[in-house]
Amino acid sequence: MRKDEVRLNCGITIPVIGLGTYSSNNDRVTTEKAVHLALKMGYRHFDTAKIYGSEGAVGNALRKAIEDQIIPREDVFLTSKLWSGDHHDPVSALKHTLRNLGMEYIDMYLVHWPIKLKPWACNAVPKEEDFEKQLDMETTWEGMQKCLDMGLCRCIGVSNFSTKKIEHLLDFASVPPAVNQVEMHPMWRQRKLREICGKHDIHVSGYSPLGGPGNAWGSTAVVKNPLINSIALKHKATPAQVALKWGLTRGASVIVKSFNPDRLRENMGSLDLKLDDEDLIEIEQLEERKIMRGDFLVNNTTSPYKNLEELWDYEI
Ligand code: NAP
Repeated sequence: MRKDEVRLNCGITIPVIGLGTYSSNNDRVTTEKAVHLALKMGYRHFDTAKIYGSEGAVGNALRKAIEDQIIPREDVFLTSKLWSGDHHDPVSALKHTLRNLGMEYIDMYLVHWPIKLKPWACNAVPKEEDFEKQLDMETTWEGMQKCLDMGLCRCIGVSNFSTKKIEHLLDFASVPPAVNQVEMHPMWRQRKLREICGKHDIHVSGYSPLGGPGNAWGSTAVVKNPLINSIALKHKATPAQVALKWGLTRGASVIVKSFNPDRLRENMGSLDLKLDDEDLIEIEQLEERKIMRGDFLVNNTTSPYKNLEELWDYEI
């Protein structure tokens, strides 16, 4: 196993730095170029989702690299996600994703959100009429397990699940989730979630590890934080590298998006940074600031969750 990978409870390894591919521009050419460049720089883990609209571009770029023998398929770790309108049929949803990608299988299939939308709802930000009141996670998970049995994916997991939702899932899952992908960065440290996931051997993957600067929902609160900047200065590193390395030292993988050559390289460089105990203690003391959190799923009278606290089971 390479030092930049960790083993999951399903037996396979996951590279700890993943390239995020959600971009509001959703420009196919730019995404393909970024994936090519990332492969050259050593990225081996690519994160997409039906709702990002990036599956086609990611699949094209990876297939081309595989055909050109730049990389064997088995060295690439590809994640996609079950959209909330597809809970009724994960197998068909994953087959659709595989067609988008032009791949025979993916490595990880995640339940994107613990929320069920009407089958036709395909907006990242659901509308008033899109919500179903009840998510029957037992039926969804049966479908996810079927995807695994059929060899459509090598591992299954969840995303945006609170500790309570994880424990509920474990009550009936024949196959436990291998990953829980959640917002995680120095300002939303997910301490309790990491503890419970650790107890059940579920790997935590941190998305928006820089706090999503430049995104409509994002913030510069992490990369502009004075403590993160002073730690970066001390180690002759950048604030982004400090934020990413913090996640890695917590045993998580980080899913970071950049389509810019310099920042792609910079982010990969976080692997070489060494944070000391003092840095980690200081970061632990930062006031928490949750950034994306799923607000768009609760500011709606038809959502089953009245507010963020309900979505996260009063853990935030
Ligand atoms: P992020 O990776 O924290 O931030 C990305 C933003 O930061 C982009 O605007 C990027 O711009 C900029 N950036 C990248 N590297 C930088 C650096 N070194 N210094 C300064 N700015 C930098 O947040 P994210 O995009 O929200 O999340 C990353 C990925 O996580 C997504 O693409 C997606 O794959 C996944 N995600 C999953 C969920 C989920 O529900 N499971 C939710 C959100 C995100 P440039 O491209 O211009 O560099």
